[in-house]
Amino acid sequence: MQTTQLQTSPTVTAYIGLGSNLSDPKRQVSNAAKAISAIPSSNVVALSSLYLSKPMGPQDQDDYINAVIAIETKLSALQLLDALQTIENNAGRVRKDNRWGARILDCDILLYGDETINNERLTVPHYGMKVREFVLLPLAEIAPTLYLPDNSSVSKLASEINSNGILRL
Ligand code: ATP
Ligand code: CA
Ligand code: CA
Repeated sequence: MQTTQLQTSPTVTAYIGLGSNLSDPKRQVSNAAKAISAIPSSNVVALSSLYLSKPMGPQDQDDYINAVIAIETKLSALQLLDALQTIENNAGRVRKDNRWGARILDCDILLYGDETINNERLTVPHYGMKVREFVLLPLAEIAPTLYLPDNSSVSKLASEINSNGILRL
């Protein structure tokens, strides 16, 4: 009897936060969604509306366009991070020293299934997601019944956060 089995990776639902405030941000975010739909071993399952939000940190920069995209993927979390950083680099992102400064494209892994990950390259759930309106509102739009690994409700977090003038476009 044959005992070997084909090794198939599990499919995980991951949520990715997108942001841009340079070089036609709406175009950057929709191009990013298109590029994410081409990531191997992955399918897009939901894309939020675009949101117009105030910058975090330095205020001498333009407002941001944000969205959240959900994918089903067989990639590991680090493989997904690699793919997203390639997409950021291809969009022309230049890494600068100023934290939270203007950028062409930012792709953050918000959630990777219900996993908690802490290593040199990756902290998941994203450390800021519970206090950022530009993450919680688009996430609650596409995943209203979702709970974080710490059992907090995305919809509840979104309803309680200061909207900070965010506009759903
Ligand atoms: P913030 O993390 O506060 O949103 P940022 O998005 O501007 O700030 P970046 O300069 O884009 O920060 O990323 C710095 C590093 O963060 C990346 O090189 C990556 O290794 C690491 N990182 C840790 N956790 C995550 C995550 N969940 N998603 C994306 N990058 C992450
Ligand atoms: Ca970010
Ligand atoms: Ca980032």
